[in-house]
Amino acid sequence: MARTTDNADAQALAGYIDASPSPFHAVAEAGRRLADNGYQQVDELDPPAMQPDRGFVIRDGSLVAWADVDGQADDFRLIGAHTDSPNLRVKPRPDQDRAGVRQLALEPYGGLLLNSWLGRDLGLAGRVALADGRVLLVRTATPVLHLPQLAIHLDREVNTKGLLVDPQRHTAPIWGLGASRDGDFANWVAQTLVGDGAEAGDVVAWDLMTHDFAPSAIVGADHELLSAPRLDNLCSSWAAVEALLGTNRGMIALWDHEEIGSTSNRGAASPLVESVLERLVPAPSERRRLLARGTCASSDMAHGTHPNFAERHEPNHPITLGGGPVIKSNVNQRYATDARSAQVFAAACERAGTAIQWYAHRADIPCGSTIGPITAGQLGISVVDVGAPMLAMHAARELMATEDVEFLRRALTSFLDVSGSS
Ligand code: ZN
Repeated sequence: MARTTDNADAQALAGYIDASPSPFHAVAEAGRRLADNGYQQVDELDPPAMQPDRGFVIRDGSLVAWADVDGQADDFRLIGAHTDSPNLRVKPRPDQDRAGVRQLALEPYGGLLLNSWLGRDLGLAGRVALADGRVLLVRTATPVLHLPQLAIHLDREVNTKGLLVDPQRHTAPIWGLGASRDGDFANWVAQTLVGDGAEAGDVVAWDLMTHDFAPSAIVGADHELLSAPRLDNLCSSWAAVEALLGTNRGMIALWDHEEIGSTSNRGAASPLVESVLERLVPAPSERRRLLARGTCASSDMAHGTHPNFAERHEPNHPITLGGGPVIKSNVNQRYATDARSAQVFAAACERAGTAIQWYAHRADIPCGSTIGPITAGQLGISVVDVGAPMLAMHAARELMATEDVEFLRRALTSFLDVSGSS
């Protein structure tokens, strides 16, 4: 594989990540990019009359987009990815104070690495529901929260035994000094995030979550690495959008709620893709044929071999940063890949000129899972689980090779392009 030097794909991904501190922002940004390229947003509330040839639907933090699905009836291609990442989210009544500081009560979302959230300047983002029925997309312009480390003088064993961060007692960040009163946070949300003279009583509820405020960065002596929050799985979400725009064929589904099991009105276990397909292919028998003949690439990040913990990985399946897309398999269907679906993706990588790597989990450590098996069970479509290699999955800050961003985009583009011209 030839080294790329301009890192254009990694820079574009960094821009997408920094613009997307929550799933709601991630689909808004993806929708904006699709609309800029001629894709028409369809409202699920509209009657299913004529559907645009190129369009997209947004449901809360999820998005489904399509192009020329009719033209692919004999070899339908779907890419799945997810828009959510583990983080800390604001509880409904978060105001608390202790030791002379104001704190917010947060709730862990997904399988996050709690210690990675310590010592960072955190922003807040998400959406706010108002009494008048409006739901606003919001984010702070500055970092507003900080979860400080405990000084080593107060825990001399931290470097030998590790810091135990309790999800209930140790995750309330500081956001000011003095005493808290119930309603302080709602008041601040009204004044700072809503504005226009809004008051605490106007704010009914929120879906607000923390994010690492530091922007994504290209790092390394030769600029070979991308250090960023939410690489899992905004990398795949970004690459899926670019693949669709690069081919104008097939369908992509960017799902919310993967990190908590996908069961919700908009997760991969919801009927969102089916309801979009019902609009595009109204005849049930035609729809079933399309799915039976189709293949889904479920793209989620893959564990690169950690140089300091190589013994945690399956010895004969090393995954190299910069080594190209990964096909993930697990015979117990934690990943949905089988020989047939793997062949489809391997052929796409070959056409794209990218290498492939094969991931298998150690049998003595429980394997994670993703949307692949859920999509296979929900739609009855053949699924291959794939992804780009990375380190520190589910940390507040993650790391991958810049080249793998381009490799994944090229592989997914080739996967959608059944004509083989990409
Ligand atoms: Zn993921």
